[in-house]
Amino acid sequence: MATWDIQKGEDMTCPQCGSVYSVKYHQVPVKDVDSAACVVCGHEMARWKSTRYPIIELKTRGEWHEPEATPGE
Ligand SMILES: [Zn+2]
Repeated sequence: MATWDIQKGEDMTCPQCGSVYSVKYHQVPVKDVDSAACVVCGHEMARWKSTRYPIIELKTRGEWHEPEATPGE
C-alpha cells in the first residue's frame, strides 16, 4: 500500500530577488530527480533526488529586473 503524504514546510525566500514561497513537501513512493526554480528570476531554489520533494508556491513577488543586455557586443 503506497502512502502519500503532504507536509507543510517552512517558507522559502529567494536569495536573488526576495520572492517568498510557501513550501509543501510531497512524499512519493518512487524516487524523483528534479529541481524547482524561482518563477520571478529563475534562481534555482531546490534540487532533490529522493522520494520527498518540495512543491513551492509563490506568495509574495520580489523586486526583480532582468539584467539589461550589454550593448555593443
Ligand atoms: Zn527569485
